[in-house]
Amino acid sequence: MMNPETASKPNSGGFSLSVDVEDYFQVWAFSKVIKRDSWDGFQLRVGDATRTVLDMFDAHGAKATFFTLGWIGERDPALVREIVARGHELASHGYDHTKVNQQSRDEFAKEASYAKKLLEDIAGVEVRGYRAPGFSIDRRTPWAHESLAEIGYAYSSSTHPIAHDHYGDASADQNPYHPVEGAALIEAPVATVNILGRRVSCAGGGWFRATPLGASKLLLRRAATTLKGPVIFYIHPWELDVEQPRINSASVKSKFRHYLNLKTMPRKLDNVLRSFSWRRIDEGLGLARVGGAA
Ligand SMILES: [Zn+2]
Repeated sequence: MMNPETASKPNSGGFSLSVDVEDYFQVWAFSKVIKRDSWDGFQLRVGDATRTVLDMFDAHGAKATFFTLGWIGERDPALVREIVARGHELASHGYDHTKVNQQSRDEFAKEASYAKKLLEDIAGVEVRGYRAPGFSIDRRTPWAHESLAEIGYAYSSSTHPIAHDHYGDASADQNPYHPVEGAALIEAPVATVNILGRRVSCAGGGWFRATPLGASKLLLRRAATTLKGPVIFYIHPWELDVEQPRINSASVKSKFRHYLNLKTMPRKLDNVLRSFSWRRIDEGLGLARVGGAA
């Protein structure tokens, strides 16, 4: 008998997986209590956590795009090279997780260009994708996409078109589009669906941890029939790192969000990896080069 999970596996492969490669102490929610200049005092856990993710992806034949911080690349270049060697797309998450909407255009251009070159020098492949920390390309940054196009990025996956207190714009486009007239650059928003006139996220991260597995899978299937591009899903390596040190000084709300359902995350992610065909964002957008190499 056919397994219902397999039976519902879409044939188009229209699901794209992404990983934002940053460590647990670099997340926006903790930035008030963990200052940027204290990062070097923390022991890196992102290498081991990312390798856990890579092993899970291998077990299901899933391919993904890894939006990696330049700061991490400098400290763990072997990890960057391993991501590429294992068949995944290497992409940029900026240098040190500064939000785009907290930078001037010049500061942003410098950082996004530096991170691209740094990762390319480490891995020896072209870096074509960019994801803004905390989905921070929005109405406050009308110059950001122009900047990315000038630097030479082929696409950005930096918008989460939903209402949220830290990011998002519920009126932003849900489908891939060309944000800059005359430029080839594509903006590919992470996955959302419309239910009863309301936009709901099925893009991953904290949303995925907060939503029951069955509901997440229903939403992902629905997104595949309504979105006009790849259904883009994201996770962080620290979401699979159950043993990570607790940041007790953070606010109750930040701690609630960061630690919510970390224990069930491996099982849920495993199920979602098994239930859908996952590929890199460059492939989902039809940008992959012949031979699959970036
Ligand atoms: Zn991030």
